[in-house]
Amino acid sequence: MAEDQAKEARKRRHKRAMQRKKEHVDDQIAAATIDKGLCVVLTGNGKGKSSSAFGMLARSVGHGMRCGVVQFIKGQWQTGEMLLFQDNPLVEFHTMNTGFTWETQDRDHDIAAAVATWEKATPLLANPEVDLVILDEITYMLTYGYLDKASVLAAIEARPPGQHVVITGRNAARELVEMADTVSEIEESKHAFHQGVRVQKGIDY
Ligand code: ATP
Ligand code: MG
Repeated sequence: MAEDQAKEARKRRHKRAMQRKKEHVDDQIAAATIDKGLCVVLTGNGKGKSSSAFGMLARSVGHGMRCGVVQFIKGQWQTGEMLLFQDNPLVEFHTMNTGFTWETQDRDHDIAAAVATWEKATPLLANPEVDLVILDEITYMLTYGYLDKASVLAAIEARPPGQHVVITGRNAARELVEMADTVSEIEESKHAFHQGVRVQKGIDY
């Protein structure tokens, strides 16, 4: 009997707590009334930066939005996202096709490749018809000084007001983080690679 009463009391407490939580969340939702093109930065050492960016690409394409993707590291594998989206009429897809990988170790070559790839990004960032631009792994181009940080920041800042931009890569520059509306620093708790597991299709590429 006492057990039943305790159960009932617990249910009532839970209901009250959920009511309070709902009121709080409803207030917050009612207060958020702004629509704008967002700058989203996905950084940190954990896995999930590029795959999150491509998740937003999938969402956007699903809504019929026009999108641009610029990848700043030479593809070693044919990625699933490229195979899925490269021929989609809503998506303009550019991948750095020469230059920067960890292997080249040729600075001039890498700089030329970074600049050529950035030249694919600038028209997208200037086009108000483009709803979403993904700058995948661009943070490294700034860390290594391959691209001029001030020009990159200026182009992102001057983009059309309704355009979303998603930036990925480790060690995002402080200025990028300051400029962004949403920043996620993905922490590594574990990674299968450290147990000797090689890249897996569908999960890693
Ligand atoms: P993903 O594309 O899977 O979301 P990411 O963009 O967060 O990964 P990157 O640094 O771009 O991470 O790494 C790309 C590749 O390296 C992916 O195959 C990913 O699984 C792998 N990777 C990511 N984080 C780690 C890590 N901490 N240790 C080892 N490999 C990693
Ligand atoms: Mg990545």
